[in-house]
Amino acid sequence: MQPAIHRPTRAIIDRQAIRNNFLHERQQLTSDKYIFAVVKANAYGHGAVAVAKVLHELQVDGFCVATLDEALELRQNGLQEPILVLGITSVQDVQLAAENDISLTAASLAWLEEAVNNLQQPLKIHLAIDSGMNRLGIRDRLEVIAATEFLLQETNLVAEGIFTHFATADEPDVTYFNSQERKFRELICDVRTTFQYVHCANSATALWHQDVTSNVIRLGISLYGLNPSGTVMKELPYSLHPALSLTSEVSYIKQLPAGQKVGYGATYTTSSDEIIATIPIGYADGWLRRLSGSKIIIDDELCPIVGRICMDQLMVSVGHMVPVGTPVVLIGTQADLSISATDVANYSKTINYEITCNLSDRIPRTYIN
Ligand SMILES: *Cc1c(COP(=O)(O)O)cnc(C)c1O
Repeated sequence: MQPAIHRPTRAIIDRQAIRNNFLHERQQLTSDKYIFAVVKANAYGHGAVAVAKVLHELQVDGFCVATLDEALELRQNGLQEPILVLGITSVQDVQLAAENDISLTAASLAWLEEAVNNLQQPLKIHLAIDSGMNRLGIRDRLEVIAATEFLLQETNLVAEGIFTHFATADEPDVTYFNSQERKFRELICDVRTTFQYVHCANSATALWHQDVTSNVIRLGISLYGLNPSGTVMKELPYSLHPALSLTSEVSYIKQLPAGQKVGYGATYTTSSDEIIATIPIGYADGWLRRLSGSKIIIDDELCPIVGRICMDQLMVSVGHMVPVGTPVVLIGTQADLSISATDVANYSKTINYEITCNLSDRIPRTYIN
């Protein structure tokens, strides 16, 4: 998609916030720990290549992505750090990964056996262990041993890492987290080799379970300055700096008398004289219809979105007349008002991750600092 550069709607990404979040995490860790920045899904909407370049300057140890294509995008843009694809890659594509020195996740012995037939050179592998998330990974102790033996025996497979993923690291109740942690240790205790990377820490684990053994932190959401738990776990070892703001401008404004309908379905009726502003952002930009009724900032005022959000535009009720071109903040701060991605998520009953990931390619990303 062509970003709409001739429209005032922008996602502004503060690189300094990302640096701060990364360096704060770095300071928590002993020097034997690695940080792999998770830049999947276009760095949670922040722009994968731009974010990766910021972290490259800070000597990040590696990157995690979801797909082989995301990994290739980083390689094509000159990033040379280790890259791990966290999802399952088709066995047809393993040689392409090997040629580009991209590490792949193996979640079964069967996958490894098929993959090796398609390799003409060594491929780095991280074995995924399922300790209770039940998304992907080996669940059986004997299969973990067999897969490791297979890695050691095949010259085109390199045993680089072994890892698991927690389902509840962002929750106050640690029962399930502890059971997963125990399960991970049990499943890997009999393997006959030492992996360079043994890891289980996403952002939430890094923030609230610092005693867990993991020599890699797969740092995702907190890199972008968002709390993995939303508003559940308020205590943080260091403050997070949100990197993304979403801004626009008033594109049209008028005063309506009482009794006028606004938007598709004519669902909103002005109750008295009301000033209605139109803002050029809509659900095709990722500002979903379920955000109808939520507030955005215009000229130091929180203004409710009235009527249904359209594909490309939305309407708000403003307390006083402002000129066309007046700045609008949908996520971020203006004077003493602010709206966070977490506020937006809470309003629409989802998580902050989904809010930034949803911002579509039509919104240009602007980088500051
Ligand atoms: C997405 C992902 C992460 C990053 O999670 P955050 O909560 O954003 O830190 C880490 N590990 C795996 C396996 C993931 O899929």
